Amino acid sequence: MDGCFVDVSRGNCLDRLVGSEGRLESRLILICPRCKARVSVAADRAFCTDSKCIYAGQGFPVVDGQPVLIDFLDSIFQRSNYKEGNGSAIARDPSRSGLRSRLHRFVDGDNPVAVRNCRSFLALIKAQSRRPRVLVIGGGSVGKGAEGLYRDPDIELIGTDVYASSCTDLLCDAHKLPFEDSTFDGVWVQAVLEHVLDPHIVVSEIHRVLRKDGLIYAETPFMQQVHERAYDFTRFTPSGHRWLFRRFEEIAAGPVTGPGVALVWSIRYLLRSLGMGEKISRLIAMLFVWIRWLDRFCQSRMAADAAGGVFFLGRRSESALSAASMVSYYEDS
Ligand SMILES: [Zn+2]
Repeated sequence: MDGCFVDVSRGNCLDRLVGSEGRLESRLILICPRCKARVSVAADRAFCTDSKCIYAGQGFPVVDGQPVLIDFLDSIFQRSNYKEGNGSAIARDPSRSGLRSRLHRFVDGDNPVAVRNCRSFLALIKAQSRRPRVLVIGGGSVGKGAEGLYRDPDIELIGTDVYASSCTDLLCDAHKLPFEDSTFDGVWVQAVLEHVLDPHIVVSEIHRVLRKDGLIYAETPFMQQVHERAYDFTRFTPSGHRWLFRRFEEIAAGPVTGPGVALVWSIRYLLRSLGMGEKISRLIAMLFVWIRWLDRFCQSRMAADAAGGVFFLGRRSESALSAASMVSYYEDS
């Protein structure tokens, strides 16, 4: 778990417990990730209510009081992950106090793009609904720059991830979201889509659970090395990211981190490749941290072609971009 362009050093969920608004199943309908029948949640087990479904008998685990609504017959995550602890398949640093987390913050800096986009997301979604319900996918910790989402008392947040934390309400695999159609006014998915096997299926699920005109905010790496070890699969150019969200109308899109940050990451990974340990590589890479200040002088088109990551803020649409429009999308941006 290192080097993600947004903060993967996991923090506590600010002052607000996501699940503090009452029992989850009384707030929204949960459905079985395998057969889509309703799910009932008990203290130590959750069950599919369709007696023909395998999860009616086997049930779903409950970790730290949160149901694990994963179809284990069709997921990279195994039931055995959720027998004890928080269910995480890799080590986490929930306090953000470890040396690696602190070095990570120093080298990567803040994420002002996410802060600005979070403000826009909140303004837009509150104009559409009096008390918007927002799903956070990969919300085991607060995404870097997403603090405004958690601090806004007018937003009902539903936090999900593949491990339990104070920021999550339930655990699920985003390829099969355990929610009915049209449940959410917005979806926030930050530094997640590189970690799923099939991002196009995940985005299709996001489209399904969003209401008409619902909002999406996504940040996904582009020029970034492998992080979170075995759980890292995909990267997106700005155009590829736009195509991923082709059933959404674009409100804003662009680079998150520039080529300078990506170059500092490359130096660190080069040092790692030369056999230096993780901590030594991070310490030496700190000598080059000044390079990321060059990002402020980068030209937008060239910076987008070499960005560390990209973002997309959009609105659910009934139509899709045409393949033919993708050349002009690059040339006009
Ligand atoms: Zn079922």
